[in-house]
Amino acid sequence: MAHKSEHRSRSPLSSLLRLPAGPVDLAGYDPEASPGYPGEGKQDADAMRLALEPELSDLQERLYAAGRSDPEHAPNLLVILQGLDTSGKGGVIRHAIGLVDPQGVQLKAFKAPSKDELAHHYLWRIRNAVPGRGMIGIFDRSQYEDVLVVRVESLVPESEWSKRYAEINEFEAELAAGGTTIIKCMLHISSDEQKQRLAERLDDPTKYWKYNPGDVDVRLKWAAYQEAYEAALELCNTEAAPWHLVPSNKKWYRDWAVAELLREKLAGLDLGWPAAEFDVAVEQQRVAAS
Ligand code: AMP
Ligand code: MG
Repeated sequence: MAHKSEHRSRSPLSSLLRLPAGPVDLAGYDPEASPGYPGEGKQDADAMRLALEPELSDLQERLYAAGRSDPEHAPNLLVILQGLDTSGKGGVIRHAIGLVDPQGVQLKAFKAPSKDELAHHYLWRIRNAVPGRGMIGIFDRSQYEDVLVVRVESLVPESEWSKRYAEINEFEAELAAGGTTIIKCMLHISSDEQKQRLAERLDDPTKYWKYNPGDVDVRLKWAAYQEAYEAALELCNTEAAPWHLVPSNKKWYRDWAVAELLREKLAGLDLGWPAAEFDVAVEQQRVAAS
């Protein structure tokens, strides 16, 4: 038994980052950590991330091909990115999701709901954005805003938002049962790191556009947001749609980690290539004779 660990392959990143069931204390998770990172550190992070590109591309193409050949039943994948301002949702989309063919990616950023959206159930706009078969969907914010900002800012009464956790679980279970692999990532940063990133945006005229004065007002409610996140992470951490906590103070780790999670989940689909729906030999002859 003592030798067994030497022969065991590295634990999948998804199991290292998966939040265990039960109450969540975010303060107990180090945002500086880099669990499962296979290299030395920042100096080799670009290389580690880019090394995932060939396999990610191949897997994504298989998924896309499955969607083309069986538009009703092919699997799809949904990456849900949540995290406070400056946690790096945009960076992950550029550096991790950017490794795959954009034709196979359906990206949706959720902002404060429009008048039209507010007239519907909060899940209406979410359902409308679910990726098609064979696609990789990316949610930059998601249904979780409806139990995060909505809870902290009391945009609806507690009697209403408190019902949403169960509703979200039901919605996600339904998606999973329909063949969608859901990868939920909470990008975990520290308060000091957020302060530094906001300050950097003000030090650099090329970053002013990213700065939103309202982010400081949100920041002042740090404790309330941590609490709201802890509730969402605890109450919506299901087998069908588990939460992953991605330590995100190190941008290079965060980007590598999400790319690796995506690679693992795509590989887990075990997709082959669709068989030809024509006689290959006959078609070869026809092409040769044409
Ligand atoms: P950003 O991601 O920085 O472009 O900001 C989007 C803003 O939209 C954030 O302040 C979110 O809190 C807000 N937002 C997203 N979804 C909702 C929602 N369901 N209700 C209220 N505000 C939301
Ligand atoms: Mg913002």
